[in-house]
Amino acid sequence: MDLYEHQARALFERYGVPVPPAEVAATPHAAREAALRLGADEYGIVVKAQVKTGGRGKSGGVRRADGAEAAERTARQILGMDIKGHTVRSVMLAQPVAIEDEFYVSYVLDRNAGCFLAVASAEGGMEIEEVAAARPEAVARVPVDPAEGVTAGTAARIAEAAGLPAETVPVLQRLWAVMKGEDALLVEVNPLVRTADGPVLALDGKITLDDNARFRQTRWGEGASDEAADEELTPQEAEAAAKGLNYVKLQGEVGIIGNGAGLVMSTLDVVAGRGARPANFLDIGGGASATVMADALSVVLSDPDVRSVLVNVFGGITACDAVAEGIVLALDRVRLDKPLVVRLDGNSAEKGREILHACGHPLLEQRTTMDDAAERAARSATDTGPPASAGRVPTTAVAQAG
Ligand code: GDP
Ligand code: MN
Repeated sequence: MDLYEHQARALFERYGVPVPPAEVAATPHAAREAALRLGADEYGIVVKAQVKTGGRGKSGGVRRADGAEAAERTARQILGMDIKGHTVRSVMLAQPVAIEDEFYVSYVLDRNAGCFLAVASAEGGMEIEEVAAARPEAVARVPVDPAEGVTAGTAARIAEAAGLPAETVPVLQRLWAVMKGEDALLVEVNPLVRTADGPVLALDGKITLDDNARFRQTRWGEGASDEAADEELTPQEAEAAAKGLNYVKLQGEVGIIGNGAGLVMSTLDVVAGRGARPANFLDIGGGASATVMADALSVVLSDPDVRSVLVNVFGGITACDAVAEGIVLALDRVRLDKPLVVRLDGNSAEKGREILHACGHPLLEQRTTMDDAAERAARSATDTGPPASAGRVPTTAVAQAG
């Protein structure tokens, strides 16, 4: 999960990373008031688009205004702007800073090396990509041992390798504390600046949190991060996330539910091979209970693009009778008004099939092989005329779900 700059800034504050005073506003009027509180009429103010993409400065999403009234005008221009496909819904008003030097600092998880990496440069700012491409030696890369973390010694080595001044050393340690304490995959500050009157400040912040750590990061739910992360989700994605389901919305019309990412992905392929397009990826995982299956089916059936649903379960740890009970449970909760094709095999398949047979819903059909089931579901989806979303390009987003 990526955070907005203002959310990253809030985490920096919590961990003692120095940041300039700032406030967030969603309307020009609120921007004016925030700017006034921050002393815009005396010092001026920086108005910054809040979007989850970099390069805001170059796109005109970061602008200086010389007072509260100017801040309101600037906010009006920036709000609603499109920056690389992201619509600006809020701005951050920040007290301006007299920049002496701009540095680049980040911690990333280096999956290939199996460790963390500190990446730092004395030539930070908006041109960092160009610097890294033209003169890679200007960007220092220092491995960070995950068990040891960034000690004062490590921080000093990072600063030295990158040519950063000694005042950055405590900041480097605190940024590592953010990385570790928040289970982040990325903490990036560009620019980290040295100001004319002394202190080192983080003027920008980019943080990616590791969604797999949600279970132990109880504080994430308290902040604005969740609300912000949810705003770009479809209702189905939001509900699936709330239920802890591994769901990805796609652009077709056959709803797909299976157990195990590999099986679900091959189910998508088989359905596509039958001339229909998957409406989603949904993996109920191993050892799923009836409730999980019921939740999964409710989510998929609530998608208006779905014209038929294919449940493909090969029971290993997952027992097919539990899956069947989940389907029956879901049919109690939501009205089934489109064909539902179920293929159960493996652990307790016979029991599962009997449960579904006993349920006797006219729109529920069973097939014993994946091919037959896919064929049936694909035909049901394509028989009913052109899909609502016909003409959209199929997505390859499902690769992310594996
Ligand atoms: P990005 O382009 O999306 O990375 O957005 P940044 O937050 O990094 O802002 C772009 C540039 O604007 C920075 O590199 C700074 O040079 C400048 N900038 C950002 N905030 C401030 C500020 O508070 N004061 C001053 N003087 N410049 C700022
Ligand atoms: Mn930046």
